[in-house]
Amino acid sequence: MERMTSPENTPSPAVAASAVTASKTRPARRAAQVMPATEGWKQAKDPGGRPLLQFKSPRVSQPPVHLADMTLPEREAKFKEMGLPAFRAKQLSVHYFQHYTTDPERMSDLPKDRRAEIVDTMFPKLLTEVKRLTTDNGDTIKFLWRLFDGSLVESVLMRYTGRVTLCVSSQCGCGMNCPFCATGQAGLTRNMSTAEILDQIVQANRVIAEGGLGHLRRDGGHDAERVTNIVFMGMGEPLANYKRVMKAVHRMAAEAPEGLGMSARGITVSTVGLVPAINKLAEEGIAITFALSLHAPDDELRDELIPVNSQWKVDEALDAAYNYYKVTGRRVSIEYALIKDMNDHPWRAELLAKKLNQRGRGWVHVNPIPLNPTPGSIWTSSEPEVMQEFINTLIDNGVPTTLRDTRGKEIDGACGQLAAAE
Ligand code: SF4
Repeated sequence: MERMTSPENTPSPAVAASAVTASKTRPARRAAQVMPATEGWKQAKDPGGRPLLQFKSPRVSQPPVHLADMTLPEREAKFKEMGLPAFRAKQLSVHYFQHYTTDPERMSDLPKDRRAEIVDTMFPKLLTEVKRLTTDNGDTIKFLWRLFDGSLVESVLMRYTGRVTLCVSSQCGCGMNCPFCATGQAGLTRNMSTAEILDQIVQANRVIAEGGLGHLRRDGGHDAERVTNIVFMGMGEPLANYKRVMKAVHRMAAEAPEGLGMSARGITVSTVGLVPAINKLAEEGIAITFALSLHAPDDELRDELIPVNSQWKVDEALDAAYNYYKVTGRRVSIEYALIKDMNDHPWRAELLAKKLNQRGRGWVHVNPIPLNPTPGSIWTSSEPEVMQEFINTLIDNGVPTTLRDTRGKEIDGACGQLAAAE
């Protein structure tokens, strides 16, 4: 989903430390209320004058079916259709999900005379790398991919101590029309397929295995690392592409050779608040992390900031988030981009804390994040002391809160900046 929030739970040491001093900090300057507005582009409106919401993908041609679109039994059936024994499907799945390769030359366990045919059938080219930008001393890479129909999407790969996170896209464009968002401006082109979502991870794993992320070991090799955490905070609203996203999530968590064998807890699905889909997600029976991008606790502002709020109000979204916690036992994250003079007022921190506490304690964690600074724009980061006051107010009210860091600012890879331009 979400272009405005950082894909990582990284406390800022300065703020985390000073948060202890809580209400002892000096009160921040009070400011006027700035309301959301688009800058430099025209927001599509529905006949009622409200920002247009697109929940359904336009009917356009779909990418070819790929091994990662299929369950293991479906792959085996496909192999049988090709006159090959079912165990070959497992071998091929190992090449893809464990060795990150689609190169027939590296598949010496498959019959030589059928290798090219197998690869052509099972691995149609889905993602072609168009551009790769690196920052943070090589620890952050933004990939721009061209899909089979020319659509452009991005993923951002980030190395942290002890983990590697990939921010993945789930749709080409987005239909949620948030006024701050680079991705939403062009509307929704189409949903991405399960395999297009998964191939972002496999390709990232290949780059890591080749030593392309961060520093090499002293012996010149690379650590046997791979992507450990997934955040659905690239392009698109993942819950608007529910079926394909969930298939991808199940395949991420499935043991090899069915899937990637990742820990479900390391997978975060983030949404602007599609309530029926949140309730469905709670019943999936998979222990992923759920994040609600709230950004405002009051409907007056959120109606403008997150247009889907016109369908499901703040309290409905929070009820669904709380239900997710009740059903799964997994603590929910609330994402809150702090935007100067727009949503960073102490009374909003109070209101947010009140609404969260009304539903219970210990079920939620708030992650404020400074919006990426855009000088001269209404969409710019809150002042440090204002952020601090906001955080302190939440903490004083007993709400666990951690300021998050942004990565990839220099390469427009931070949230709110992915526009997929060549
Ligand atoms: S327009 Fe879509 S991608 Fe952008 S912030 Fe809204 S939901 Fe997220």
